Amino acid sequence: MRDPHNTRPRLIVASNNPHKVREFAAILGKRFEIVSMRDAGMDVDIEENGSTFEENALIKAQYVMDASGCAAIADDSGLEVDALGGAPGIYSARYCGRHGDDEANNDRLLHNLLGVPAPRTARYVAAIALVRPGRMPVVRRGVCEGEILTERRGNGGFGYDPLFLCETGETFAEISPQVKNAISHRRRGIEAVLAALEEEGQA
Ligand code: IMP
Repeated sequence: MRDPHNTRPRLIVASNNPHKVREFAAILGKRFEIVSMRDAGMDVDIEENGSTFEENALIKAQYVMDASGCAAIADDSGLEVDALGGAPGIYSARYCGRHGDDEANNDRLLHNLLGVPAPRTARYVAAIALVRPGRMPVVRRGVCEGEILTERRGNGGFGYDPLFLCETGETFAEISPQVKNAISHRRRGIEAVLAALEEEGQA
């Protein structure tokens, strides 16, 4: 139920990924009342048929705002590996051929990098789209540089995190959620959106 004393503007996170909703809430929860699609009564899989992270983020946020009338935020994110020409990129969630099978995606990534020497440079990318009724959308990108290891390390995070060595010298699956949320691609993209709101005088 909605807290009657809550004065924060409501923002629906246009994602069915509970990890992402948690990360948005941890980063934006003081400023906005963060609501998942499920909490907003929406049970849909939004088709992501854009050709860039930015297009896909905008498609998702716009869909949710059109359906709910409420401001919405979305990310479209993924991993770009230099030795693979930027793959899996926008196809990160379904790299193995099925959507959202993290284990199989990691296996495919390791297989495709067999024989590639370290450092296997890569980056996580997140495009963040904020849409609000009657206002221009704001879309910004955050990036987090790292390397792909030859075997998994750590039990935290999700997706490619056990293989992604970040700037602390640990994988994203070894660091705490607090540290991940301080340095992640999503954090950086969200900060860029907040900076754009400051410029608008909306923050
Ligand atoms: P999306 O939900 O279409 O944006 O797909 C994002 C996909 O990129 C996820 O399913 C993961 O495979 C990968 N990904 C994005 N962000 C992260 C992250 O923070 N950690 C691990 N994998 C991520």
